[in-house]
Order: sequence, then structure tokens, then C-alpha cells
Amino acid sequence: MNKLIIAVTTLFLFGSSVASECEITINGNDMMQYDVNTINVSSSCTNFDIKLIHSGKLDKSIMGHNIVIVPTDSFDEIIGMISMDAGIDNGFLPSDDRVIAKTAMIGGGETTSTSFDPAKLEAGKEYTFFCSFPGHYGIMRGKLSI
Ligand code: ZN
Repeated sequence: MNKLIIAVTTLFLFGSSVASECEITINGNDMMQYDVNTINVSSSCTNFDIKLIHSGKLDKSIMGHNIVIVPTDSFDEIIGMISMDAGIDNGFLPSDDRVIAKTAMIGGGETTSTSFDPAKLEAGKEYTFFCSFPGHYGIMRGKLSI
């Protein structure tokens, strides 16, 4: 609980600083949760960095997490493509042109990151970030906008 209060306070104090607008760190845990549910990308960024930390202990084959960003209007179709056959190295998701960014899938204690060009995003359009491990997107998802 204290960690949550510190995180919220930190967000409040530094959330509007320029440095934080072009990057975000998201934690995933063994409870199948992210600690962030909204990402705002500044249009002034030439690059947006996303870092994912799995703060749990479970292996990625059991509680794997990644971050996939897609337009919200394509979300239902894209999650329909999630399949074990696509393999854990692909996040159980075949490649698709509508995917804006995708990190590697990681397990407890691991960290990964990716970045994308915010020019790929349309102002006023809503995007969804989620975990493509089978069954996780129901809980592990949030909104992203520019
Ligand atoms: Zn997951």
C-alpha cells in the first residue's frame, strides 16, 4: 500500500515534467495486473519509450507479460488472433500491421522495453495497450492517447 501511495505521489509531482512525457515505466505482477491504466504520449516526442518491469516471481510460461499497443477499434480483432500456436517468443500474437508497438514477453524479475515513433499515432484517436498472454487482456489493459 505504501508503494502505491509513493507511486501516486510521484506521478502527481512529476507527471507534468517534460522528461516523463516521452517515456513510461509500467510494472506487471503475479496478480495479472499493470500499475498503470492510462498513457498520454506528448506529440512533441520524437520517440516514446516504454519500459516494462515484471515485479513478480512466476515464470513467463505461467504469468508472462508484455505490452502491445493497438488502435482501440482494432482491439477485438487483434485479441482474436491470440493463440498458443503463435508461440511465446511472439507474445502468442502473429505480427500485424495494426500493432504500433510490442515488447518481448517476460517473466518475474525480468525487464524489457520498446519504443515507437509517436508520429504513428493519430491525435484524437484512442489506442489500447494490453498483455497478449492468453487470457490476460481482460484485466491487463489500458488506454493510450496522444
Ligand atoms: Zn500477462
